[in-house]
Amino acid sequence: MNAFARFRAAAVVWLLAGGVGLGLAFGAGALRAEPLSALAQYEPGRSAIHLSEGALTLSLGLSQPVPYRVFMLDSPPRLVVDFREVDFGAAAPEALVNAAGMKGVTALRWGKFRPGWSRLVAELDGPYAITRAAERTTDPAALEISLKPVDAVDFATRAGTPQSALWDLPQPADVARTHPRQDGTRPLIVVLDPGHGGIDPGAEAGVLREAVLVMTFARDLKEQMTRAGIKVIMTREEDVFVPLETRMSVARAVGADLFLSLHADALAEGEATGATIYLLDDKASDAASEKLAERHDRADLLAGVDLEGHDDEVAGVLMDLARTETQPRSTRLAGSLRDAIKGAGLSMHKHPVQGAAFSVLKSADIPSILLELGFLSSPADQARLNDPVWRGAMSAAIVKGVISWAGADAVEGRKLRQ
Ligand SMILES: [Zn+2]
Repeated sequence: MNAFARFRAAAVVWLLAGGVGLGLAFGAGALRAEPLSALAQYEPGRSAIHLSEGALTLSLGLSQPVPYRVFMLDSPPRLVVDFREVDFGAAAPEALVNAAGMKGVTALRWGKFRPGWSRLVAELDGPYAITRAAERTTDPAALEISLKPVDAVDFATRAGTPQSALWDLPQPADVARTHPRQDGTRPLIVVLDPGHGGIDPGAEAGVLREAVLVMTFARDLKEQMTRAGIKVIMTREEDVFVPLETRMSVARAVGADLFLSLHADALAEGEATGATIYLLDDKASDAASEKLAERHDRADLLAGVDLEGHDDEVAGVLMDLARTETQPRSTRLAGSLRDAIKGAGLSMHKHPVQGAAFSVLKSADIPSILLELGFLSSPADQARLNDPVWRGAMSAAIVKGVISWAGADAVEGRKLRQ
């Protein structure tokens, strides 16, 4: 027991494992993606979730100690552990949860969170408090976190993302910068948003992962767009987690003329096939698209994003006003893309343009579209997504659709200014 550096945990615990020489710098730039020589491996054989007399203990076997922090989030109650850095390898989090019989921890997710950091998020079956967090720094290294059930009020006072100069990245300037609507006299600025990433793999089918497939596609598309004279910015350049809100902030910060989110989800119904273009529709009632929207928001929750206190009714009303102007532009973009994809003879869903309440499309002043390139639940779509020839043809069609939209959009913009 002496080998454990232990202490009573408050809501937040930062622990630097003593004497491991990771050289964690608390200065500016500490979050840069420098390669870590000391990357701890997760060891499933020495890991477990125990529930006894209501107390929940999570033990993680690690190949070496790492700096970490733990905290709780609400709605739903979640335990979040950040590491610098743990490689979870191919181990499935479900294995650890199922061993515990789904009591206490109802869902578990882990993976890369941002460069140099990994995250574990355990969704809990009720409010808990952290009673102990301790890391064994001698061989074999392990992290042990104990929780006890508490009442909702007690939980609420403890939950929340900790503020930390080390952790918190500077946010893109949040000033409402009014960027002029594109009028064809300057290069078009497109933000490509490869869905999911890092701790959130998206849909999975066998060895295929949506996050990886859409990243590959986005790189091809970026190249084709750049060659066509379009300025492209990506919301992520590697397999790393990016919250939905940050994806929209990126678009705003660079003054995007349009935002294109790329996905290849799976639908349990199994019948969906072909590319589908989604527009924002808060009242979308289609069961399948509702499920997709829920799943994308839930991915943020399971990745440990704190969504508490983000509802601002006044801001909501202002956003709706701005959207009145932007929505027809998004609708026209959807039409242009549909025509270009169909025109290239590429397979589309039987309802090629649909509405859905996707949070990532809620930018008030930037025409935004979510493109399901295909569905991982469809073997035919899987084959297409894996085919470089198909990807090239689809990218070319998207470029064509975007350029055609930009032309019509510029004409309308000029008319409105007169
Ligand atoms: Zn997706």
